[in-house]
Amino acid sequence: MLTSYTPGIECAKELDQKDPLAHFRNKFHIPKNADGEEWLYFTGNSLGLQPKQTKNHLQQELDDWANLGVEGHFEAKNPWMPYHEFLTESMAEIVGAKPIEVVIMNTLTTNLHLMMVSFYQPTKTKFKIVIESDAFPSDRYAVETQLQFHGFDPTESLIEWLPRKGETLLNIDDLESLLEMQGDEIALLLIGGVNYYTGQSLDLKKIAELGHQKGCKVGIDLAHGVGNIQPNLHESGVDFAAWCTYKYMNSGPGSLGGIFVHERYAHDTSLKRFAGWWSQNKATRFDMRQPLDIIPGAEGWQLSNPPILSMAAIKASLELFNEVGMDALRKKSIQLTGYLEYLVLELKNDRISIITPKDPNQRGCQLSIQVKNADKSLHEKLTQAHVITDWRTPDVIRCAPVPFYNSFEDVYRMVELLKLILNA
Ligand SMILES: *Cc1c(COP(=O)(O)O)cnc(C)c1O
Repeated sequence: MLTSYTPGIECAKELDQKDPLAHFRNKFHIPKNADGEEWLYFTGNSLGLQPKQTKNHLQQELDDWANLGVEGHFEAKNPWMPYHEFLTESMAEIVGAKPIEVVIMNTLTTNLHLMMVSFYQPTKTKFKIVIESDAFPSDRYAVETQLQFHGFDPTESLIEWLPRKGETLLNIDDLESLLEMQGDEIALLLIGGVNYYTGQSLDLKKIAELGHQKGCKVGIDLAHGVGNIQPNLHESGVDFAAWCTYKYMNSGPGSLGGIFVHERYAHDTSLKRFAGWWSQNKATRFDMRQPLDIIPGAEGWQLSNPPILSMAAIKASLELFNEVGMDALRKKSIQLTGYLEYLVLELKNDRISIITPKDPNQRGCQLSIQVKNADKSLHEKLTQAHVITDWRTPDVIRCAPVPFYNSFEDVYRMVELLKLILNA
């Protein structure tokens, strides 16, 4: 499937012509500069672009609210009471889960805490948590404060899975040795499935196996994985996962997150949890005076009646995902990112290196490009040229060509501009 690329723009044009997903770009709003020229947008890993159909989905709910008030809970075109259920099947398919394992609720960091309430049950001897080195700050803060909440000192009980000296990427063998040495004291692994900084995509099944061998629970943060790679959560065997929907899921700033709780816990009422009225059996929820009777599966972790406007944006996006399918999206993604990698290496600039793994199975769409001796002015010049990328100090440009709406020509033009700026 991997095409052999050539350096000129003709290659980009040909790849776009042959791209069966090319027409999806037109289903998104691409930001433009004052002259109407489209930006080269490579930050779908931070905030995905808006599908054009999102507005209609939001408008529908605004209209139903205007016309029906509280009756909208049952009478709206998409009744609000079961609204989250309309999202479950598509969401489950995207992460490779069964519908009973998935629900859309809350935001990511909130969900990490709720998952840890259930899956981080430390004892005096088994209490440590492993995270990957350079974890996203929110995850680290969540884990540190969970440890403190249970009376442990993060400096002793938070363990980082580190890359080897002089390396940037993680090696699964090192997690294995870490577990061999300290596994008896480790209660939980909470690992970013795709690292936000390096773009490295980890083998979730292997991580789950290693953790479970030592009696640890295994949770995955999929913020950079969902809608990007195919994590096959059910098959991987991890205990839980959580993600947001505003990155590759294109569901709008601050939109709701999702969780996965493995089927093996679907009917396990012994798990501790924080509950609310939305955790309660739907048949008796509105009797208001019934004792707590938790819904089986992931839905049983819901607390509140959810914000429908945010869910409407997620619904709009999921319809596009249904239309294209993750297999096709991933196939284009591998080709598009391969093309970016090819062009960057073609620059033959010895200041530039790519820290993301070369193997497509070990990365999603993002490449993290390191530019020696660069500073933020490089990023500013790119932005002035309407190349929207993400800068991470000290010297890394994170660049995510998104198969839904980025073209091969976007990639070509981006690298041409990078070359111009570096040679100036
Ligand atoms: C984007 C991201 C977050 C953000 O968390 P919110 O609760 O949605 O603000 C957290 N963790 C990771 C790994 C992320 O990539």
